[in-house]
Amino acid sequence: MAKQEEKRQGQHGTQSDKAGSAGPGGSGGAVDFIREIINEHNQTGRFGGRVHTRFPPEPNGYLHIGHAKSICLNFGIAQEYGGKCNLRFDDTNPSKEDVEYVESIMEDVRWLGFDWEDRLYYASDYFEQLYQWAIELIKSGKAYVCDLSAEEIRDYRGTLTQPGKESPYRNRSVKENLELFERMRAGEFPDGSRTLRAKIDMAHPNLNMRDPVMYRILRATHHRTGDRWCIYPMYDWAHGQCDSIEQITHSICTLEFENHRPLYDWFLDQLGIYHPQQIEFARLNLTYTVMSKRKLLQLVSQGHVRGWDDPRMPTISGLRRRGYTPEAIRSFCARIGVAKVDSVVDIQLLEHCIREDLNRRAPRVMAVLRPLRLVLDNYPEGRVELMEAINNPEDPSMGTRTVPFSRELYIERDDFREVPPPKYYRLAPGREVRLRYGYLVRCTDVVKDPATGEVVEVHCTYDPATRGGDAPDGRKVKGTIHWVSAPHAQTAETRLYDHLFTQPNPEEVPEGQDFTVNLNPKSLETVTALVEPSLADAKVGERFQFERLGYFCVDPDSLPGKPVFNRTVTLRDTWAKIEKALKLGED
Ligand code: ATP
Ligand code: MG
Repeated sequence: MAKQEEKRQGQHGTQSDKAGSAGPGGSGGAVDFIREIINEHNQTGRFGGRVHTRFPPEPNGYLHIGHAKSICLNFGIAQEYGGKCNLRFDDTNPSKEDVEYVESIMEDVRWLGFDWEDRLYYASDYFEQLYQWAIELIKSGKAYVCDLSAEEIRDYRGTLTQPGKESPYRNRSVKENLELFERMRAGEFPDGSRTLRAKIDMAHPNLNMRDPVMYRILRATHHRTGDRWCIYPMYDWAHGQCDSIEQITHSICTLEFENHRPLYDWFLDQLGIYHPQQIEFARLNLTYTVMSKRKLLQLVSQGHVRGWDDPRMPTISGLRRRGYTPEAIRSFCARIGVAKVDSVVDIQLLEHCIREDLNRRAPRVMAVLRPLRLVLDNYPEGRVELMEAINNPEDPSMGTRTVPFSRELYIERDDFREVPPPKYYRLAPGREVRLRYGYLVRCTDVVKDPATGEVVEVHCTYDPATRGGDAPDGRKVKGTIHWVSAPHAQTAETRLYDHLFTQPNPEEVPEGQDFTVNLNPKSLETVTALVEPSLADAKVGERFQFERLGYFCVDPDSLPGKPVFNRTVTLRDTWAKIEKALKLGED
C-alpha cells in the first residue's frame, strides 16, 4: 500500500489545502489515464480545448465516500483544466427519489469545497426534449412500442451465450407506434402494460443492445414534475442525451457503465447530436464498509444506525458528523487516484488522512474517558493552580490556555496497574509518573472496593519542585499521563465508534444471509467522560484532540453546557501494539 500510495501521490502533485489545485493535468509528472485522455483531446483539438464535466447523482439516497471520489474527480478535473463542472440530478426514477436527498446532496458537494455556480440541472428538465427525440427515433423506424410484460421482456432477452428473441410487436408501423406512444404519454394505459423500446439487434453480443427499454409507464408523483408525466425515461435513454444537451466533453462514470457505452453511442449517432466522450473508472470500495445507497438505506430503515448521518455511516454527512474535514476527504481521494480495475482500499488510509489533517489543526485538550480517582495526599486542600497548557505543539500560533489543577484529580483507568506488566511505564504502586503540565507524582497507596477488589482510588504524593513536569535534580520519569481536576471537571457524553462491520468484506456472508449479519455489535460505545472545563461551551462541529486518546468532534446533540462528543478516530496506540505483540509472543 505504502509504495502504491507514494506513486499515486507523485502522480497528482501536492495536495493543497484548497479544493482548487495547481497545474492543468498534473503538468510535470505522470498523469492518470483520465487526464491522459483529456490531454490528448486537448492536443488534437477534439473539443476545441474545452473541458466540461458533470457530477450526476440520482437523488435516491445520501452521498457516500465513493461519490466523493467521483465529485473530486469531476470538479477537480474541471478546476485543473480551467473548465466547468455541472451538478446534474439524474431524477428519472420518481418512486425512489426525494427532495430530502436533493438537498443533502447539494449541501455535501458544497461542504466538500466545490461549486457548480449557475450550472444546476435536472434530467427532468429535459423530459420534453427526450420525448421529442424518442418520437424522432420512432419516425426513423428505430423505436417501437412493445406490449410484452417486464417478465416477458426478460425472457425474450436471451443470455450471454444465447441470442434473444424478437418481440412480436417489433414490426409495428411507424404510424401505429407514434399513436401508441402518444397514448402512453396521455395516460391511456395501465402501469407496466407497454414500453417504448429501441430497435437494435436481439442477437447482439452486448445484452444492453438487445432492444433496450427507453420508456416505461409509471404513475408516480415526481418531486419536480409532479403528475405531469406518467411515462418516464430509462436511465440509459436519458443519460447520454443529458450529457449531450449540456455539451459535456468528458462523461466520467464508473466501470459498470462500460458496456452501456455502445448503447449511448448508438442513441447519439441515431439522433445525430453532439457526442461527449464517456470514460469509465473503477469505483471506490473500502474495507469494513458497504457502499451502495440501497444497502445504506437498508441500514437506516431497519434501524441498524440512527440515520443517514450516523457517524458510523460512510456517507459524507456521517463522516462530517463524525468529525472528518473536507480537506481530509479530498486528500484521501487524491491519494487513492483513479484506475481501470476494481480494488478495495484499506479504510486505514482514510483514517490516516483525517489524523494527518487534525494533527495540524485540532487543539489539544485533556479528557478522561474511564475515570479513576487520584488523590495527592500532600497537596493542600482547597488549593487550585492554573497550569499553562500548549494548544497545539504542531502550531505554536495556536497559543496556550490554563487548566485548573487541584488535590483531587481523575486519571484514565488504563493508566494505572496494580501489577504492571513489562514495559508498562505508567502509574503503579511505588512508581513515579508525570502529570501532563502538572507535577511528578508517586503512587503510595490504593483504595479497593471491598466487594470486588477493584481499585477505586489511587493515592500519590506530588513533588512541589517539579511544577511543569521537570525535576530540578534531573531524575527521569518514563510515563506522562493526562488528567482532569475532579472539582472542575465537566461531564460529557462521549460516543466511541468502531467499524460498523466485523468483516473486512461485509458482503462475505453465509448462504442465504445478508450483509447485516456482519454488523459489529460493538460499533458504538457510549461513555461519560470527564473533560477539562474549557470544553463546557464547545460549539457543534468543533474538533479537538483529547490528548493520548484520539480526535473528537462536538455532536449536534449537544446542549448548552452539555457537550456530546464523537470520537472521529483514535491516535495510534503504541501500547495496544506492544500488548498485541506480547500476546502473540506468549501464544
Ligand atoms: P450506489 O451504487 O452507491 O447506489 P450509484 O452509482 O447508483 O451509487 P449515483 O447517484 O448514480 O449512485 O452516482 C453518481 C455518480 O457517482 C456516478 O457517476 C457514479 O458512477 C459515481 N459513484 C457512485 N458510487 C461510486 C463509488 N463507489 N466510487 C466512485 N464513484 C461512484
Ligand atoms: Mg446509479
